[in-house]
Amino acid sequence: MKRRSFGPGAKVSVFTLGLMRALASPLQLQQVVARALAIGINHFETAPSYGPSQVYLGQALAALAVPRCRYVITSKLLPGMDVGKGLAVVHATLQQVGLGQLDQLAVHGINRPEHLRWALHGPGAEILATCEAEGLVGQVGFSSHGSPEIVEQAITSGRFSFCSLHLHLLSPALLPLARQAMAAGMGVMAISPADKGGRLFDPPDLLRRQCAPFDPLELAYRWLLGHGVSTMTIGASHPSHLVWAQRLAQVGDGMAPTVAAAARQLDQVRQQRLQDTFCGQCRCCLPCPEGIDIPTLLRLRNLRLGHGMTAFCEERYGLIGQAGHWLPMVQGDACTRCGDCLPRCPRNLEIPALLQHTHGLLQGPPRRRLWG
Ligand code: SF4
Ligand code: SF4
Repeated sequence: MKRRSFGPGAKVSVFTLGLMRALASPLQLQQVVARALAIGINHFETAPSYGPSQVYLGQALAALAVPRCRYVITSKLLPGMDVGKGLAVVHATLQQVGLGQLDQLAVHGINRPEHLRWALHGPGAEILATCEAEGLVGQVGFSSHGSPEIVEQAITSGRFSFCSLHLHLLSPALLPLARQAMAAGMGVMAISPADKGGRLFDPPDLLRRQCAPFDPLELAYRWLLGHGVSTMTIGASHPSHLVWAQRLAQVGDGMAPTVAAAARQLDQVRQQRLQDTFCGQCRCCLPCPEGIDIPTLLRLRNLRLGHGMTAFCEERYGLIGQAGHWLPMVQGDACTRCGDCLPRCPRNLEIPALLQHTHGLLQGPPRRRLWG
């Protein structure tokens, strides 16, 4: 499998095995890890908050007798801990995965300004500096589910060597920031193109037709590779889930014209189907006094109506308000019709009516995040 630079650390395979799902037993995770290694994946992503993931990974690497030079591990650290607790978590991670040094440590979810302050100026700064000074970690990065503004602040802080972003074919808003990060020499990991990118492992028929001649998941992967991201996570729970990683293992650098054309066609059909209710995701309407993340909610409406992505959009909408700072806090029915956002929308959208429509379209039972 091709490898790409990931900050100043070791090169990583263009697919990264995310270890948050293969956790029914140590054997399940071991079988997935064995398959990943066999197809050339050398990068494993885990976290203390993913249940027994780190313990199972350490056991799998030992059982498979994998030479240290054949893998790179990224683990994470939730923001907010004091220095003693944070260092204890890092030491526990090292013990669980069976290493003296972790290749990469990411601040797990710089989603809000207080998380970034913690990492740059608070206890997190001391934790990260100590880890580097004592050789406990090779390089430091961050993941984020936050706004483009907070992601930009984290990237431009100069503190981090890599970032894990929600950057997807169907959610490309962070592409300029990803480019900025890569231009600054940072590694960029796209989080879960298959699942978070739109449940593309089980696409609706409409999306399948719109992505032709590509499979939707194939197009999503090829589009990200074409834009030069370092690597993309796959949260496989079975070895068979790695089939696309194997098929695309040798895709080279640069955007193939056929991929660019298919992505453009997808944008066009989405806009055509939404017509004058299409939200362009410019974010000019923010802030909303009720705390509604208008662009995120209307993006789900775009995808539901533009591509028939009912299951994905209902799932993501059901998580709103159920996952703390990991996702938007307020659903569309919180709109009071105050009108503040209306003059700021360059497309003159009837935002309150569209939010109400979105709520009716996507409202379902509350959901919960996989972890946390
Ligand atoms: S009209 Fe609704 S969405 Fe717009 S700012 Fe007011 S409460 Fe927020
Ligand atoms: S200003 Fe209008 S087009 Fe832009 S994100 Fe808000 S609702 Fe969408």
